[in-house]
Amino acid sequence: MISLGVGEPDFTPPPHVLEAVKQALDQGFTHYTSTTGIPELREALAEKAKHEYGLFYDPASEILVTVGGTQAIYTALQSLINPKDEVLIPDPGFLCYQPAVCLAGGKPVFLPLLEKDKFSLRAEDVISHITNKTRMLILNSPNNPTGAVFSHDDLTKIAKVAVERDLLVISDEVYEKITYDDAKHYCFASFPKMRERTLVVGSFSKSYAMTGFRVGYVYGSKELIAPMMLTHQYSVACVDGPAQYGATAALKGSQKPVETMVAEFDRRRRFMHSRLNEISGFSCSLPKGAFYIFANITDLKMPSEKVAEFLVNKAHVITVHGSAFGKHGEGYLRFSYATAYNKIEEALDRIEKAIKTIK
Ligand code: PMP
Repeated sequence: MISLGVGEPDFTPPPHVLEAVKQALDQGFTHYTSTTGIPELREALAEKAKHEYGLFYDPASEILVTVGGTQAIYTALQSLINPKDEVLIPDPGFLCYQPAVCLAGGKPVFLPLLEKDKFSLRAEDVISHITNKTRMLILNSPNNPTGAVFSHDDLTKIAKVAVERDLLVISDEVYEKITYDDAKHYCFASFPKMRERTLVVGSFSKSYAMTGFRVGYVYGSKELIAPMMLTHQYSVACVDGPAQYGATAALKGSQKPVETMVAEFDRRRRFMHSRLNEISGFSCSLPKGAFYIFANITDLKMPSEKVAEFLVNKAHVITVHGSAFGKHGEGYLRFSYATAYNKIEEALDRIEKAIKTIK
């Protein structure tokens, strides 16, 4: 079985990260840390925001180190919405959003991301889904599962709506470092009047191939972060100490490993894109970010779940059916290229062969 299903880099973390974790263990940093994260890491995160987004966040009150981006999103929803509040979430969208909204007692409202719009989010669609119960919007660019990167123009329009309709925003930017060609990642909090109403969620999982370390973070105003700190304190107490030293080293050390990883993803992306388009029944455009291709399979005239099942049984290849990501994901399959190049070659050869038996 070859898996093109996984949502995590197949790389190991940079060596200086592993070294910092080992050193932390040797030096006896095996105790609880401050609830909000070790000061070194919060300061390094403040420096990153200043340098990369031109934004100042106070390390003492406006940055929270979390158990990956997942817990940052969960904690934000638990802390900031009331029962029955409506939360706008992308469809297709990352699998955690809908359950996290429901667990907080909220009501998920789905915003379509359509291929004809290059899977971007249209401000008009945000407006048309707002009711007097809408409290929050979740944005995700670069996007999982589509690989889309929202343009400056689209984000500007969405920011205007957020101000006019008084929405809080969770901007899930965990794929910020993984963009290609001319695509650029913009931090949503850097748009006019967004800093005070946006929680920027980041993670070490994707940028530094540190999924198993479970370190993420969130930037926000003091007013938004304060209630999150309480939820965090009474649910996880703090994030794994040695892992936080590793994360600090990731930010302070050379960024070359990130560039090398992204260059390899880019090579795989181009190959997967052209190869998939050669296979009858599949079509896709070249995505600009993350490490996924969301291929259109409507020509196969089968539900996406059936196609994924067929590929497991007949090609021994794992993909994720688009409907897993929401109603608007039907008609698509998600292919991850966070897998070795030669495995991707082999997987696509097998898929082609299997599809020929039904086409
Ligand atoms: N957001 C998105 C869009 C993701 O794809 C993922 C991981 N698949 C996460 C957040 C969470 O990652 P982590 O908890 O490892 O930081």
